[in-house]
Amino acid sequence: MTRIRPLLAALLVWLTGHGGTVPVLAQGSTAAHVHGEARLELALDARGFEVRIWIPMESLIGYERAPRSAQEIRDYESAIDRLRTTDGVMRPSTGAGCSGRLLELIQPDWATVSNGHAEMAIAYRFECSEPARLAALELILFDRFSRLRRIDARLVDQKGARAQRLGRRARVLKIER
Ligand SMILES: [Zn+2]
Repeated sequence: MTRIRPLLAALLVWLTGHGGTVPVLAQGSTAAHVHGEARLELALDARGFEVRIWIPMESLIGYERAPRSAQEIRDYESAIDRLRTTDGVMRPSTGAGCSGRLLELIQPDWATVSNGHAEMAIAYRFECSEPARLAALELILFDRFSRLRRIDARLVDQKGARAQRLGRRARVLKIER
């Protein structure tokens, strides 16, 4: 639970940068989101970067309620397992020598989903042996989740925040230093 606080801090950054939309990330369970669209924030630092993603459950499993049948439960667990490692989710520039790991994955608390919407919040940490060669991050999770059409990304570093819009055919987040 100690990781929730930085995630919430990131959400506040997100909120202040996105006047208008008001996603509510309570245990990753409810949100005013657009189906098919995820939000991503990449924070660069000297040794690598952290990535946080908020994805509507609709875009992961096709619905936003607790899984019911045995098949739904299997599919749900499978979707979560795919997000536990960075391998099938995102791929940094190979020359940068980055290795990533899951920091936190917040599943919806179905008991508190009240507005019919639920999303997953995920945070990863990448450490890079050659961070200066980090030029891009390819979002390969588009391959795994066919309902996901768009990712609204924000790149944050000392210079500030820059927005990029990614899609199924433009899935590379450019990292400029
Ligand atoms: Zn929804």
